[in-house]
Amino acid sequence: MLRGNIHSFESFGTVDGPGIRFVAFMQGCPMRCLFCHNPDTWNPDARGQYSMSPEELLAEVKRYKSFIRSGGVTVSGGEPLLQAPFVAEFFRLCREAGIHTALDTSGVIFNEEAMRVYAQSDLVLLDIKTIRDADHQSYTGCPSRSNRATMDYLREQGKPVWIRHVLVPGHTYDDAQLHELGAYLKNYPNVEKVELLAYHTMGRYKWANLDLAYPLEGVSALTADQLAHARSILADYGF
Ligand code: SF4
Repeated sequence: MLRGNIHSFESFGTVDGPGIRFVAFMQGCPMRCLFCHNPDTWNPDARGQYSMSPEELLAEVKRYKSFIRSGGVTVSGGEPLLQAPFVAEFFRLCREAGIHTALDTSGVIFNEEAMRVYAQSDLVLLDIKTIRDADHQSYTGCPSRSNRATMDYLREQGKPVWIRHVLVPGHTYDDAQLHELGAYLKNYPNVEKVELLAYHTMGRYKWANLDLAYPLEGVSALTADQLAHARSILADYGF
């Protein structure tokens, strides 16, 4: 029987897709992003707060149905595609119940199981960690091959995508990279929105709690002016 290992829930999420959403954060991630603010989700063998079947998770979601009518459910992580069969079945049940489904993924896993999840996703929130392939391995611990293949596949499927991209000073934030990002995304007519997110240091204590050295020690948070500047560059590309 399928059971999801779920790190935690958020019942009234407002930043992970359109409207008010029930957000389930799945346990486990194969990436090791330097700027991760949820390293406590990494270990796939650690027990999250909940172990549930897709039907049990749907029953939990339905308790909030009147609140999420304008939104839906989002499954995030960690990396939810590590538990693709569970997510695919949960999304299938949600859609049967008339609930909008959004998958928040880095696209690092690209295989048939992932495709079955995409088929049940009304929207994909795709996190691009860096636009530069040469930096991908050192910034995330994984090559960028699958992320690129995921982007191409979602375009082929005509699947609505919202891009999310964290701007880290000295790493992913500079004019040249923002222009590269804009030029790349213009090739994807299924990209409806680009959310540029400011790097912050609020997740740092979680690294300390896990006895992990924080890799971005000394890197400052992105300022509001820098974020506005980045957004103005992407606006030149129609985003
Ligand atoms: S993909 Fe997300 S959860 Fe995984 S390491 Fe990167 S930021 Fe953290």
